[in-house]
Amino acid sequence: MKIYGITTESSFVLPNIATSTIESLLDDTGTTKGAVVHYTQGDKGKVHHWVQRIRQHPHPRIYLMPLALIYEGEKPPTLLQKQFDECVSVTQLNSASSTKSALFERVGQWLDRIPNLDNNSSDSSIPFKILRLMASRNKGLEPILTPSNNRGFVYPAIEPMFERSDDSPITSLDFLHRQQFLGRDFFKRAHFCPICESAFLNFIETCPDCAAENLTKEELVHHFKCGHVDNLSHFERHNQLVCPKCDERLKHIGVDYDKPSIVYQCKQCTLQFQDPLLKVQCYSCESVSNIDDVSVEDIYVYQLSAIGLNAALYGLDALFTSILQTDLQLFSNREFKSFIHIEKARISRYKKSTSCVATIYFENLDSLFHRLGKRTEQLFKEISAVFKSVFRESDVISALNESVFVILMTETSEENANLALNRLKNAIQDLFEASLAKELSVGILTRVHRIDSASDLNLMLENALKVEEK
Ligand SMILES: [Zn+2]
Ligand SMILES: [Zn+2]
Ligand SMILES: [Zn+2]
Repeated sequence: MKIYGITTESSFVLPNIATSTIESLLDDTGTTKGAVVHYTQGDKGKVHHWVQRIRQHPHPRIYLMPLALIYEGEKPPTLLQKQFDECVSVTQLNSASSTKSALFERVGQWLDRIPNLDNNSSDSSIPFKILRLMASRNKGLEPILTPSNNRGFVYPAIEPMFERSDDSPITSLDFLHRQQFLGRDFFKRAHFCPICESAFLNFIETCPDCAAENLTKEELVHHFKCGHVDNLSHFERHNQLVCPKCDERLKHIGVDYDKPSIVYQCKQCTLQFQDPLLKVQCYSCESVSNIDDVSVEDIYVYQLSAIGLNAALYGLDALFTSILQTDLQLFSNREFKSFIHIEKARISRYKKSTSCVATIYFENLDSLFHRLGKRTEQLFKEISAVFKSVFRESDVISALNESVFVILMTETSEENANLALNRLKNAIQDLFEASLAKELSVGILTRVHRIDSASDLNLMLENALKVEEK
């Protein structure tokens, strides 16, 4: 088995391109544009390991590298093929090489659009890497069914990004979907063990009385003329059907007789019944459950949303805003300005009210992702809950950008606004400590401005952004 590093965007022809080692490929964040793995029978484990090393690398130029699999003879297993961007047999190589170079070029061009991409770039959040993989290919993510995973299906393209084959790919995709970075379409509905979530279930018909599994199943026959209903075997006589009650021969189904249903007989307690009790046994954990307890879930095909495409290029900092958006109502900047305008008019008319605008700036919010990875979402949700508890429903919240928030606090004195902001700060700092993010350099800067008829909103917002610059 060989690996070739592709350094030009032109099409390639084996063996004119130089072979590489996986190590030198992983070290080269500058020149390699893609890699071709020459697969021979029996290399499955090794190929998978190489793809893992590439896709788990933190540098975008490495983990997003286009990968082609070239094989001789028999096709590699589907699961392996789908971990690659392209899979071609050696004999088709010449005609297929132009499509591969197009792919290499597309990924290369997408990488060039990432702002500030340099040799030290490093992405640690797996959901973010998934977004980038999808965006750089401009491709959806399809599952395939497989007995090799406990859940019975996998998303082969992203599988190599994960260490073990647990359900974290599904958790990550679900997370990205909830944040509206991914859209999804129905693919299949499947049944899972309520105890261990395995898809490998044995559906068993059991006796409703003694719970035995050893049942016989037989059709019932209904003789129209005499009205007799009995098991099919009681009608069978020398390859003919004869009614055991009136001895008449039954010739035509629908004319002489019909088969109204099926009857079960328990071989243990001899009970006859029509509806057996359906039980489910899991092949993985061996637990037996009632059919109603089995979890039924939908499996999806995913595509990037417009926000997802944006987040893939510019980063996940927008994630916090999107979580706040789901939990609280965030107003647009334009709406926020109209609210301030109305509030100013109200204050100058009644003269009694005091309202304030608070600005909150989070420093280095994105550093949370690098430290916490998957746990960031949970932390953001908790911060969002703090926002919800500190601000009232009559307060108007808007995001100036991913890390600056402005809040109109109606009927609130400067003193009370400052108290509220301090409560918010303390609660969030407690959360950071609780999530072992103590050493995080996330700072929270706040400021309160009182609204009067002379307040200049633009100036307030400018000041809010100045906090950010300092
Ligand atoms: Zn029984
Ligand atoms: Zn009869
Ligand atoms: Zn189970």
